[in-house]
Amino acid sequence: MRNDIRDPPHAVVSGASIAGLSAAYWLRRTGWQVTVIERAPGFRDGGQNVDVRGVGREVLTRMGLFDVVKGLNTTETSAVLVDGRGRVTAELPSDGPDGATAELEILRGDFARALLDHLPEGVETRYGDTITGTAEDEDAITVSTYSGRVLRADLLVLAEGVRSATRDRLFDGLVERRALGVNMVFGTIPRTAGDDDRWRWYSTVGGRQVHLRPDNHGTIRAILSYPRDEDLASLDRAEALARVRARYAGAGWEAGRVLDGFDASEDVYVDHLTQIRMPTWHRGRVCLVGDAAWCVTPMGGGGASLALTSGYVLAASLSSHADTESALTAYEAWMRPLVDSTQRLPPGVVRLAHPRTRLGLALRTLVVRSLSSPLLAPVAARLTQVAGTDRPLPPLA
Ligand SMILES: Cc1cc2nc3c(=O)[nH]c(=O)nc-3n(C[C@H](O)[C@H](O)[C@H](O)COP(=O)(O)OP(=O)(O)OC[C@H]3O[C@@H](n4cnc5c(N)ncnc54)[C@H](O)[C@@H]3O)c2cc1C
Repeated sequence: MRNDIRDPPHAVVSGASIAGLSAAYWLRRTGWQVTVIERAPGFRDGGQNVDVRGVGREVLTRMGLFDVVKGLNTTETSAVLVDGRGRVTAELPSDGPDGATAELEILRGDFARALLDHLPEGVETRYGDTITGTAEDEDAITVSTYSGRVLRADLLVLAEGVRSATRDRLFDGLVERRALGVNMVFGTIPRTAGDDDRWRWYSTVGGRQVHLRPDNHGTIRAILSYPRDEDLASLDRAEALARVRARYAGAGWEAGRVLDGFDASEDVYVDHLTQIRMPTWHRGRVCLVGDAAWCVTPMGGGGASLALTSGYVLAASLSSHADTESALTAYEAWMRPLVDSTQRLPPGVVRLAHPRTRLGLALRTLVVRSLSSPLLAPVAARLTQVAGTDRPLPPLA
């Protein structure tokens, strides 16, 4: 019995990626009327490898999507460190569902598409629109949009990702951005005969990394990652890529091929890794899910799993609490320990991942080799396990 939510209740969800589509799915499944607003003019394809781990696997199963996602697997079989000639120097542990190469590896665009196609009847999805204003009264929240719509809702769910503008407006002063000092550039490049089904990870001096990962679309997903406190996302694409090229001068291995590929690719995503930390994820009738609430960055991993899980936990909490405030408090209480444990990076992990000197590189290879030994297998398993919890998911009432 909800004492401040109308029947049928109405939710506006802003953002149609992993978190927003999961929230839309589960809210609709629990009887809500749902309107999704997405700023992009159409479905946003693109993006690189994400994975579903830990409790996210259970949410996917409850959605009936486990086999669908498994079928869309990137085809990656394992993960190895390579030297400048492409020779394998160490293998990352990939045993079990949550190894370095997870059982459920999927491209972000394929994952979002699977969620969109699986939305229950009755979810309204509006592209090319965005929230321009909100006003709350005792009975509801009024949401105004750029296209001129005015929506009365019981709940506004913000799923706008790490740079959510609506979150910044409505939670002013509560958003802490913690930069990890790492830039990552993701892009799709042509596959060549020398590529295989392993994730190949090359590191060289200056903390510069090059990653090549196979996909199920006949192309290669490449990542350049290096330590630097510089937000390339605010630059135009040509300027950002020119700076990355300068940074990778003389890096060796496949760096030149990746940079040329990025110049020609339409699918380049630049990220200055920044965790979002907030003391609360709800205020009145507004709540945050996914990266907008707690971006963990690819360094922590598990962002897609947490985004997926948050949609379920939100709907479950709303289904079993009498009023919005206690439902959103319960949602937050369930998600918070999971997010905290994912955001808490082991000390020195950024440096270990980006060794700057030849000695550092040699030490890192040694550490990875040791982690592959049976003796240290439990430690390795802990490092790759994210979004894991012993707590059962809250039930859908
Ligand atoms: C196109 C794209 C490519 C990506 N590529 C990678 C990648 O290569 N590697 C990686 O690790 N992560 C990538 N990510 C991020 C990854 O999807 C998230 O870290 C994770 O899956 C959590 O998802 P989310 O739904 O919380 O946020 P996101 O996936 O970031 O989705 C946010 C959604 O909200 C929409 N949006 C933003 N602002 C507004 C607004 N004001 N009004 C309405 N809609 C808005 C965005 O267009 C987007 O669809 C990418 C995200 C996108 C959108």
